[in-house]
Amino acid sequence: MPEIRIEEGDITRLDVDAIVNAANSTLLGGGGVDGAIHRAAGPQLKAHCAGLGGCPTGEARITPGFNLPARYVIHTVGPVWRGGNDNEPDLLESCYRQSLGLAAEHDCRSVAFPAISCGVYGYPLEQAAAVAVSTVQHFLQSHEQPATVLLCCFGDAVASAYRQALEAG
Ligand code: ADP
Repeated sequence: MPEIRIEEGDITRLDVDAIVNAANSTLLGGGGVDGAIHRAAGPQLKAHCAGLGGCPTGEARITPGFNLPARYVIHTVGPVWRGGNDNEPDLLESCYRQSLGLAAEHDCRSVAFPAISCGVYGYPLEQAAAVAVSTVQHFLQSHEQPATVLLCCFGDAVASAYRQALEAG
């Protein structure tokens, strides 16, 4: 049975097949979880990303994990929150769907997501958690891989938003 688990802590430490990066559209690294992933993966990740030519909002790209425990990094570009009438929910849903699609294509049994767009991009936590949980649940119903999706939380507020979304679903 596929499962969704809430995991607290640093995503770069997780021993999963793929971790998802909340990247910016240059894919060349930034702050927050993006910076942490690039630091932990090593400079080869940035060199590899430089060849990808960026990534539009709502899409995803896959790279090796280099020095990370994870085999792959799936880079996705979440929407900047602009009040909710700028297609933010569809774009965030697309990030989760495209990331899971790449994970499935690459035979990943386990994938970990950070709370995409919930840092400097300012997406309200409860609304983002609802999109994350419903999109992952929907994907898992119709795909054999990944079998395990970890929703990685950096801090109690994120964890409790996910718990509420899972209970509501
Ligand atoms: P965005 O630009 O998409 O908002 P951020 O990196 O600013 O991305 O934040 C996304 C989420 O990732 C936030 O909830 C933040 O607390 C979390 N985060 C930051 N560092 C890590 C980490 N090392 N592991 C897991 N989550 C992290």
